[in-house]
Amino acid sequence: MSDSILHTMGQQLGRRSWAEPWKIKMVEPLRVIGQEERQHAMKDAGYNTFLLRSEDVYIDLLTDSGTSAMSDRQWAGMMLGDEAYAGSRNFYHLEEAVRDYYGYKYIVPTHQGRGAEHLINQTVIKQGQFVPGNMYFTTTRLHQELAGGIFVDVIIKEAHDPNDLHPFKGNVDLDKLETLFKERGVENIAYVSLAGTVNMAGGQPVSMANVKALRGLCDRYGVAIYLDATRMFENAYFIQQREEGYANKSVAEILKEFCQYTDGAWMSAKKDNLVNIGGWLAVNDYELFDQLRNLVVIYEGLHTYGGMAGRDMEAVAIGIAEGVQDDQVRARVGQVEYLGTLLLDWEIPIVKPVGGHAIFLDARAFYPHIPQDEFPAQTLAAQLYTDSGVRGMERGIVSAGRDPDTGEHRYPALELMRLAIPRRVYTQAHMDVVAEGVKTVYDSREATRGLKMVYEPKYLRFFQARFEAQ
Ligand SMILES: *Cc1c(COP(=O)(O)O)cnc(C)c1O
Repeated sequence: MSDSILHTMGQQLGRRSWAEPWKIKMVEPLRVIGQEERQHAMKDAGYNTFLLRSEDVYIDLLTDSGTSAMSDRQWAGMMLGDEAYAGSRNFYHLEEAVRDYYGYKYIVPTHQGRGAEHLINQTVIKQGQFVPGNMYFTTTRLHQELAGGIFVDVIIKEAHDPNDLHPFKGNVDLDKLETLFKERGVENIAYVSLAGTVNMAGGQPVSMANVKALRGLCDRYGVAIYLDATRMFENAYFIQQREEGYANKSVAEILKEFCQYTDGAWMSAKKDNLVNIGGWLAVNDYELFDQLRNLVVIYEGLHTYGGMAGRDMEAVAIGIAEGVQDDQVRARVGQVEYLGTLLLDWEIPIVKPVGGHAIFLDARAFYPHIPQDEFPAQTLAAQLYTDSGVRGMERGIVSAGRDPDTGEHRYPALELMRLAIPRRVYTQAHMDVVAEGVKTVYDSREATRGLKMVYEPKYLRFFQARFEAQ
C-alpha cells in the first residue's frame, strides 16, 4: 500500500490538517422546513425518527447503513452489471474481492447483512444452545434467537461505561467466556459471535491481541468464531492507530490478519463496503458452505446473486477495494472524531473514546430526571430533530426490546442516542450545524420531559414503535 497522500501533505506543511481524499462531482439539494413544521412532523411520526419522511429531514444521521455516496468508479461499475440469472460475472468479481481483502475461501451473496445472519444462524445453531458475543446487535441477536439460540453478552465490563477510556472497549472478556464454556459445556455453545467494531457499545474496536487470544481459547475448546464484519475496516484502522506493532501496517493488511483468526463472517455491505444495498456471508469450511449455498436459494436467490442485481455486486466489489484504503478510513473516522471533539469541548456527555461510525450521546447523563422507562434516548432524538432538523436514532431501552422469557423491558446499562455519519456524504460545515443543534438541546435539557409508548410491534420494536408526549 502506498504512503497516504494526507499524511505526506501534512508532513510537508508541518501541520496536521487533513481533508477528504475525494471531491464532490454531484450534489443532492436539501430542503429545510421550519421549526413549527418539524414539531408537527415529529408528533405525526409518533416521536420515532424512523417514522419521519426523509424529505422533512435536513441532516440525516439516522444511520450509516446504505447511505454512503458511491464513487464515479462504482457508478461506472453499475453500468457493467451482468444480469444473468446464473453465473453473473459480477459475482466472480465480488468473490475475488472478498477473498483478496478478507481472506475467506467461500462466499455466499445475500441481499443485506440480516439475510446472511439468517442463513448462518439457521445452519449452525441447535435449539437451546448458547451464543456468546461481544454485546448484542438488534438483528443479529434476533436471528440467533429465532434459530433457537440464547445470546450471552461476554464483552469486557468497560464497554458498559460511557466514560471509560479503554482503547479497545469491544474486546471479549476471555475469563467470562471460558467460565461459560466450563459451566454450560462446549456442546451447548453454538459459536462465538464476534463483532468489530461494536455498534451498540458506541463503535468500539476489538484489539488484535484479543482476537488472537480468543482464537487460542476457542481452539482449546473446539468452538468456532464467526465475525460480524460490518465495520471491520474501521476496526482495523483503530488497531493501526492504537495497538503496538501495527502503526506501519496498512488497514488492508490488518484486516486480513484479523479475519484469519475467525472461521467466517457475515457482512452488511451497506456500511464499510460503501454501497446502498448488499451483503455477503463467507466461510472457510466447505461442508458448511455447501449447506449455506443450499439455504440461500430458498430465502435470498440463486447462490451467484443472493438477492442482489449483478450491478449491485459490482458496486460492492469496487466498494471493498475503495473502502479499505487508509486515506478513506482515516477521513471517515476523522470526521466522526471532528464532531465528537466539538461536543466534548462543550462538555456534552458522549460515549468516549469516540467510535468509528457515530457519536453516541449519553441520554442518561443528558436527562438524569427522566427514568429509563420514559425513554430518555428516544426523547433526545425527538428533541434534536425538532430543534434543528437533524435526525438521529435511539440506542437504549427501546432498541433493547423485551426479554423473551419474562416479557419485561430489558434495561440496558447504556441509554444512548446515536448520530451515525454516512460515508462520503456530509461536509465539515454540516458537522458544525449538528454540534450547534445538540448544544441548543443540551442547554434546555432541564425543561424536557419523557415519552409514553403507545404502540409496540412484536419484533425489533424500535423501528415502528409510537410514542406520545407526557
Ligand atoms: C447493520 C448491521 C447488521 C445488519 O445488516 P443489514 O444490512 O442492516 O441487514 C448487522 N450487524 C451490525 C453490527 C450492523 O450494524
